Amino acid sequence: MSYRGRFAPSPTGPLHFGSLVSALASWLDARAHDGVWLVRIEDIDGPRTVPGAAEDILSTLDRFGLRADEPPIWQSARLARYQQALDQLRGAGLVYPCGCTRKEISDSLLNAHTRNTTLAYPGTCRTGLHGKPARAWRLRVPDEGDGERTEKRAAGTSEPRSATITFEDRWQGMQTQNLATEVGDFVLRRADDQWAYQLAVVVDDADADITHIVRGADLMDSTARQIYLQRCLSVPTPAYLHVPVVTNSQGEKLSKQTGATALDTSRPLDALHAAARHLKLEMNGQTHSSLESFYNAAIKAWASGVE
Ligand code: GLU
Repeated sequence: MSYRGRFAPSPTGPLHFGSLVSALASWLDARAHDGVWLVRIEDIDGPRTVPGAAEDILSTLDRFGLRADEPPIWQSARLARYQQALDQLRGAGLVYPCGCTRKEISDSLLNAHTRNTTLAYPGTCRTGLHGKPARAWRLRVPDEGDGERTEKRAAGTSEPRSATITFEDRWQGMQTQNLATEVGDFVLRRADDQWAYQLAVVVDDADADITHIVRGADLMDSTARQIYLQRCLSVPTPAYLHVPVVTNSQGEKLSKQTGATALDTSRPLDALHAAARHLKLEMNGQTHSSLESFYNAAIKAWASGVE
């Protein structure tokens, strides 16, 4: 198997320290495996995309010496592929249109006394729209406990049947999520006519033959959904590694919303040394004065720490 990894920033603002950590970790993992490293610009969330941010991120990565081995992929150029994937799922009867508003969903969760214990979509539109206009498309997930019974029936087929998804994260260890109780049928096409992140990421990773995903642990919670979707689309599941997220002094994930500042591109080595410390790379406390010597040491340190 030849290693293919990627860094997939959303252009909601300039690259900040938290996203540098993800970029560096995925780049180091690719280099440590003699692999290929790609950059994908996740620019399909219209309301959150900031004009010029993608170009700014690409030039910052370049300034830091993190250069993709193939031209960047832009999600905005791939909308037809997301439609094809949805059509494939429709053809297999795995998705349905949903007419629920956020308020209706939270009201029905309240009625079911499940509020605060689970935020899983209660499946209201599984049986039809009940006269409401279609707003979104949802992927049907198996009911709780459906797993074992239907897994037997589906034996020998690649049909996804179990609500419980288990995977081994290369950094965080074994992970399990029950999609029926913790997530519910999830959205692939949003009510505001945008493609959902979950669908786009799975289609893009599969089309780019990505074998290893290295990203921030804030995305851990999405991984079970993505693995389930891979099974529905009959595409391979990559290996996953989620690095600890960078938080601010209030313990919030560093992001544009929590006040993350742009990286100082005039001093890339300062931020890179800090990112290596965050990733707990054994660099023997050494400070490097060139990108080349920093990266040589960092690749070795990464390779000795992960499989
Ligand atoms: N675009 C996502 C983000 O910036 C990352 C997606 C991924 O790595 O799967 O949070």
